[in-house]
Amino acid sequence: MEKNKKRIVVRAFTPIAKPLNHSVQKTSTMLLLGYLPYKNGEKEHSTKAYFIKGVRGMLRHAAMSMARVCRIEVCHTSEKDQLKDGTMVIPVGFHALGACETPCIIRRIFGTFREESRIIVKSDPIVSIKHNSFEVGVPVQNVHISSEYRIAKAFDGTPIQDFRQAYFAGYFNFQIDVTQLDDDEIKFLLETLLYIETLGSGKNSGYGHIKVLDVELQEVTIRKKLVANGEKYEVQDEEDVTPIILNNIEDWRKKYLYIKTECEADKKNEI
Ligand SMILES: [Zn+2]
Repeated sequence: MEKNKKRIVVRAFTPIAKPLNHSVQKTSTMLLLGYLPYKNGEKEHSTKAYFIKGVRGMLRHAAMSMARVCRIEVCHTSEKDQLKDGTMVIPVGFHALGACETPCIIRRIFGTFREESRIIVKSDPIVSIKHNSFEVGVPVQNVHISSEYRIAKAFDGTPIQDFRQAYFAGYFNFQIDVTQLDDDEIKFLLETLLYIETLGSGKNSGYGHIKVLDVELQEVTIRKKLVANGEKYEVQDEEDVTPIILNNIEDWRKKYLYIKTECEADKKNEI
């Protein structure tokens, strides 16, 4: 089996993030995937692996922010443009999800409820292993994970609720499979990454701030083979990665800015 893919790998840092914790009664924890075995030298250990929820939403949000700054009209996340009482719910600069006759750039990349997205966003599970060296059988990202019991106090200092929340901190990365996108759409998505600000909840209290550190666009060839080993076949898996540098990274503007006026950033450059 041989397959070619194109992907963007983004490396980022967060001082503290609560990636869309799901709440079970009073406990708000990260999405636990299960326990993973790992080795430290000869010793076997086990650690909890968690999912970083909300990465795709973070990316879509960043793309919408960029579209607004650049005055490109794009799909909103809501399919309805007004409530029953006639109140308009779609802000200026957006149209209802899927309402564009010629699909806008957000719809082309992220899809709608009915149309599939043309990108796949994924991130390896996060773990918190304290040993300096460790071996794990599957790809994981080692960060710091902790949880805290918090007490919400009423105005007069009386505790009204206690609950537990889980956080992670550190360097992490995520990948966007862009095999189906053309170069201009990839360029648009690359610039979108500059608009990423927060992930998960609590941003007003200082949680979830994300710093994107670097970005790599890669051409990937995946090869899989069945190799006889005793009475069974083992799957051998290899990846050839070639970095791609696209020329004229700002080209996407020419293609998409016809929808509205020129980009704010371009205006600033003229002054
Ligand atoms: Zn649209």
